Amino acid sequence: MHRDVTFESAIAVAHDLVRIPSISGEEGAAAQRVMSEFKLLRFDDVWTDEIGNVFARVKGRDEAPAIMLSSHLDVVDAGDRAEWEYPPYDGQIIDGYLHGRGAVDCKGPLALQTYAAASLLDSRPAGDVYVVHTVLEECGSWGMAQVMEQLADRVSAVILGESTAGDICIGHRGRIEMMITIRGKSAHASAPDLACNPVEKLPVVLAALRKYSESLPSHPVLPRSTIVPTVIETWPLSHNMVPEEVRITVDWRTLPLGERSTVDALQTFLLSEIQEDRERSGAVWSVSVHEISARQRAYTGWERTMPISTHGFVLPESHPVVEAAVQAVTSVTGRKPAVRPWTFGTDGGYPCGLYGIPTIGYGPGKESYSHTNRERLDLVSARATYECYPALVHQLQQVLAGEGLVETAAAGEHLFLRRLKRS
Ligand SMILES: [Zn+2]
Repeated sequence: MHRDVTFESAIAVAHDLVRIPSISGEEGAAAQRVMSEFKLLRFDDVWTDEIGNVFARVKGRDEAPAIMLSSHLDVVDAGDRAEWEYPPYDGQIIDGYLHGRGAVDCKGPLALQTYAAASLLDSRPAGDVYVVHTVLEECGSWGMAQVMEQLADRVSAVILGESTAGDICIGHRGRIEMMITIRGKSAHASAPDLACNPVEKLPVVLAALRKYSESLPSHPVLPRSTIVPTVIETWPLSHNMVPEEVRITVDWRTLPLGERSTVDALQTFLLSEIQEDRERSGAVWSVSVHEISARQRAYTGWERTMPISTHGFVLPESHPVVEAAVQAVTSVTGRKPAVRPWTFGTDGGYPCGLYGIPTIGYGPGKESYSHTNRERLDLVSARATYECYPALVHQLQQVLAGEGLVETAAAGEHLFLRRLKRS
């Protein structure tokens, strides 16, 4: 059977996928559509896993290190449809743009990566190429966490399709969602003297949190670390009762400097800051800090409780994988791409932040359209990306197969090259 491996076919698939809504946890129909495309394109292996990620493999002609191309199947909600200039699930192609939810984040890139990988089936790259599209990226990268449990030992570099406007992206901050609980003593609201009202302790705790945020580290490439309260709730929720607890949800943007271990450090800091007030009130109130977990259900029925965190990572600009990527893109487009971090989080936190597998982003379209009601993919940048992916794969496999690239630590950044030769 003839495979129609062209840019135009890739865009036709992207158009189809925009028309299949797939918010996180409901990616089943989109996954099915991609699986049938994988089969039509006759990849060497095609499979799914228990959480519903989809996988395809191009077998390499040789033993060069394997490269993984990856985008995600899920999208964020479209919100108020009346606010969209073009309907979110029509996938209209107008004035050189594919419009709609997922056009750039991440169904357009997904289709381009899939077709670019399929174009390698006849020529055979030096090593394997995995095409892996994940579920649940938009709520903690749980799909990618599952992918890494299966493929981390087999993959030597990851190229994410998440939008970069044709630049090479080398990392982003991480994110931890935490809860600070102020625990006091409840009483009937008619007898507040019998209570220790945790609501009244908010100012001292928020001031302490503010002080802590001002002490957080900065970074030469990434924006500085930030910590900010986002939601405040009382428990139990009753209008005529002094509550027992105040719960503050906190968004912590972390640097890849091991701040994760400092959830305990934050608690210690807060406790020392509130010490004076506690002593005055006879220590009947206290604070505690913990990382928030959530129970997520995949479209396959799979369920697990996991923290809502994204790991941060950053590759040095001088990293061989980054330099190889710049060279590949320059050779195809004639323009040297900028090298920079993303402004938002991606699936890269797992492969690079947690497993140390060099991960870069190279994708079409503007990041600023993601998660907005103006989401669109410009087809000129999409074509350039499509043409660059095969060169990226070749160049990365070449550099990773080279001599002398043994585990080298990039000082202080927890990054290293690893598993360079397929065992
Ligand atoms: Zn995305």
